Amino acid sequence: MSARPPVFRFAPSPNGRLHLGHAYSALLNAEMAGRMHGRLLVRIEDIDPTRCRPDLAEAMLADLRWLGLRFEEPVRRQSEHLATYAAALASLQARGLVYPCLCSRREIAQASIGRDPDGAPLYPGTCRGRADLAARLAAGTPHAWRLDMRAARAACPEPLCVHTADAAGTPGRRPAEPERWGDAVLGRKDVPTSYHLAVVLDDAAQGVTHVVRGQDLDAATDLHRLLQRLLGLPSPRYHHHALLRDPDGEKLAKSRGSPSLADLRAQGVTADDIRRRLGFA
Ligand code: GLU
Repeated sequence: MSARPPVFRFAPSPNGRLHLGHAYSALLNAEMAGRMHGRLLVRIEDIDPTRCRPDLAEAMLADLRWLGLRFEEPVRRQSEHLATYAAALASLQARGLVYPCLCSRREIAQASIGRDPDGAPLYPGTCRGRADLAARLAAGTPHAWRLDMRAARAACPEPLCVHTADAAGTPGRRPAEPERWGDAVLGRKDVPTSYHLAVVLDDAAQGVTHVVRGQDLDAATDLHRLLQRLLGLPSPRYHHHALLRDPDGEKLAKSRGSPSLADLRAQGVTADDIRRRLGFA
């Protein structure tokens, strides 16, 4: 019997148009999938109702098709799976591995005990065992759910490692240090998940074997590895590629005015031009 083909995925958030950085990531996924006789999926990561829009998701899929990407349909949309994420959150709650957090951004910034790998304030655990918690929850105060990192590490104390693959697919591994994220948010105040929880559940649900994404998500993988262990999920191999930068050395971003693929197309740039420019000719 032949081995199952590897499964790759490109997972954009539809909060703007795709730019060259996204195109590089998508094309690298496609190239690695092609070289390894694998499958390519696209997943729309639209859990954030304040920033994501269905028309932007459609525009992203159209841009990817214009770029010549072939991916399987139907495309998974995270907003259609909130009940699955809520169930996983409830299972962590039943095991005492998450706790409700009522704090505002401002309170967290003021009480912070350092920075997480993304540079955001580390949560000091204010709401863990807070005296007025039950009364505030009963009164309907909006709350997030945070991983209790100490309890999580006690539940799975063994060393963790991230399985990696380089761009040629050669396997490797490195130690994971999820503690650097502290009591990370797993359920937001407005949706019953966070990026970290949804991404590990979806990668498992879709049978993803290879996660190829930007270097900016490398550190988050340590937390993903812990969540996979806590939830009994398989762990894919990870390849984090260098980010494309603008001439000032800043990473490309919609917020910094990097041209979108749609802008480039309107200027007469072709999909072949983009593939060549990104090294995929
Ligand atoms: N949705 C994330 C983004 O657009 C990528 C998540 C991932 O590849 O794990 O930055």
